Amino acid sequence: MPETEPRLWKPVRPFSRALVIVAHPDDAEFGAAGTIARWVELGTDVRYVVLTDGASGSADPAMTRERLVEIREREQRAASKELGVSDVTFLGYPDGFLEPSLEARRKVAAEIRRHRPEAIITLNPEVRWTAWGSVNHPDHRAVGDLVLHSINPAASTRLWDPTLIDEGLEPWDVAELWMTAFGRGSEMVDITGTFERKVDALRRHASQLSGWDPEPRMREMAAVRGREVGVELAEAFVVLRFRVLDEDGSEAVRDKPPTNPKPAR
Ligand SMILES: [Zn+2]
Repeated sequence: MPETEPRLWKPVRPFSRALVIVAHPDDAEFGAAGTIARWVELGTDVRYVVLTDGASGSADPAMTRERLVEIREREQRAASKELGVSDVTFLGYPDGFLEPSLEARRKVAAEIRRHRPEAIITLNPEVRWTAWGSVNHPDHRAVGDLVLHSINPAASTRLWDPTLIDEGLEPWDVAELWMTAFGRGSEMVDITGTFERKVDALRRHASQLSGWDPEPRMREMAAVRGREVGVELAEAFVVLRFRVLDEDGSEAVRDKPPTNPKPAR
């Protein structure tokens, strides 16, 4: 639990690029769609990396893993389109079996180096169960660990795996890590203006809803978070800040090698 009072997010400037790295199609929408829609409105180029194929997400005896993979990819593309996300990459790991392996870490690090995001949204690997009595999915914890250990060392360290450099993937330092928090977070984003789009995006995951209307429950949860910071509806995150964003945000400034480089890790 964060020790400080949650605060309402007020950006110095919008992020130039953000990468949303999640385990399953629909993770991004449940945890962060209101925030993603807001970032896009502010001008951030938001992209997704979805690690698993979503093939386990059905209780229908007539469903097969093969058919579900196609359905869930289509649903994820439609949902992210609702939010204005510019790109979705599926890494294709089998749903339900994701491990924070070195092989998967290299792939996540490669995506971070390729997209060069200022901010990453992912799932909090500390969450093993929730206050309302559900067990967190192990894929959710695995993706959080993979992102943390890509930020340091796999994406940021030149010699962690020199073959990444051979592939043209230079090291990249992420500025901010945002981990979705269904309970109390350290940072709240006002999603009052984008809540309807969150719900529209969630409805695109029809295979996961089985006719359930996500609106009332999502509104109730967002209202609880909103009350903590004096807005109508909010999403909560645990945010880590690794570097201060340069004010003008120009690529030229950010991509220039530092004049006073920090010592190698
Ligand atoms: Zn999930």
